Amino acid sequence: MAEAPSTSPETSNPPRPLVVEDPRYQDHQPPGGHPERPERLVAVGRAIAERESELARQAPRPADDEELLRVHPAAHLSNITEAVRRAPAQLDADTYVSPASLEVARLAAGASVDLARAVAQGDAPSGLAAVRPPGHHAEADRAMGFCLFNNVAVAARALQREERAERVLILDWDVHHGNGTQHSFEEDRDVLYFSTHQYPYYPGTGAFHEAGRGAGVGSTVNVPMPPGCGDGEYIGVARRILAPVARGFRPDVILVSCGFDAHAVDPLASMDLSGEGFLALARIVRALANDLCGGRLALVLEGGYAAEGLEEGTGAVLEALLESPPAALPDGAAPDPGTTLRALIEGCRAVHAGRFEDLGAL
Ligand SMILES: [Zn+2]
Repeated sequence: MAEAPSTSPETSNPPRPLVVEDPRYQDHQPPGGHPERPERLVAVGRAIAERESELARQAPRPADDEELLRVHPAAHLSNITEAVRRAPAQLDADTYVSPASLEVARLAAGASVDLARAVAQGDAPSGLAAVRPPGHHAEADRAMGFCLFNNVAVAARALQREERAERVLILDWDVHHGNGTQHSFEEDRDVLYFSTHQYPYYPGTGAFHEAGRGAGVGSTVNVPMPPGCGDGEYIGVARRILAPVARGFRPDVILVSCGFDAHAVDPLASMDLSGEGFLALARIVRALANDLCGGRLALVLEGGYAAEGLEEGTGAVLEALLESPPAALPDGAAPDPGTTLRALIEGCRAVHAGRFEDLGAL
C-alpha cells in the first residue's frame, strides 16, 4: 500500500491495526526437524515489516497465573513448570518444551489477552498477535499438538471476566480442529466457537454433530472439510455458513485462531487455499466485524508450517485490516456452490437449522 500523503498530519490518520511481535517468541526451541520452529516467525515478520509504517506495535507481557487459571487448572501449570525444569522434554509425541518455554508460552497468552483487550475497549481497531507456541489444541489439563496454554481461550476468558465483552465469537480457520478451545467453551453460550478444518484429520474432533453441551448447545459450530478444499469452498463457507451464524450470534468482539496451514503449500495438511483466498476470507471476516461489532477483530497466530504460506497469509490478513475503506461483504449470488460446499451446508443445516436464520443462503 502507498504511504500516507505527507500533507496529512499523523494524528488525522485512522488508528492503526496493532501488531504484537517479539524476538523472545523464538526462544521456544524445538528438537531437530520439528515443524513448529522459530523460523516460522521470521516469515511472518517479513510480511509485517513490509507494512511497518501503517501498523502500531505493542510489546508482549507474560500472562500471570490468575489469567491462565481461568482456563487451565493449577495442576496443568505445575506440569508445564516441571517439564520445563527438566527441558528439553516431550509432553507428548508432538509437543516439546525447551528451557525458555514457560516464559515464552506466558508471553503468547499475555499478548493474546492484551490484544483482545485493546481491541475490545477501542484502543486499537483490530490487530494480530504473531506468537508461538500456538494454543488451540491445548486442553484445560493437557498440552498437545505443539500447544502449551490455550492463548485464545485465555484471551476470551479475560474479556468475559473484565466485562469487556458479553459475547465472543472465536473463529478458528487453522486447518486443524481446535479441540482445546471447543472443550473450554462447549458449555458456554456466550462464547461461540466456529471452526473450519480438514476432516478427518488431527486431532480427530470437530464433527458436525459436536455442537456444544448443556447451556452451550448450539454455540459450537463445526465445518469439517474434506482434503483438497480451496478458495471457492472456504469463501463459500464464510459467506453461507459463518456469516449467518455470526449475524445470529451478534458478537461483541471476534477473535480469530489464525493458522495459515490451510495454505496450498503447507507440508502438514492437504488444503488448497491461496494467498488471494486468505485475503478474501480476511475481508469477509473484517466486514462481518464492521457490520456486527464495531470492527472489533483480534487475530492470534496458530499453525502454518511453510514459510511461503505464513508470509502470504500474514500479508493477506494485514492487507484486509488496512484497507480503507474496508471491503464490504460481497453481494449478489455466489457462483455454483459445487458438491463439496453443498454437502458442508447440508451437514451444518442438519445440526443447526432453526438456530441461525438463513443458514446456507446466499
Ligand atoms: Zn494447525
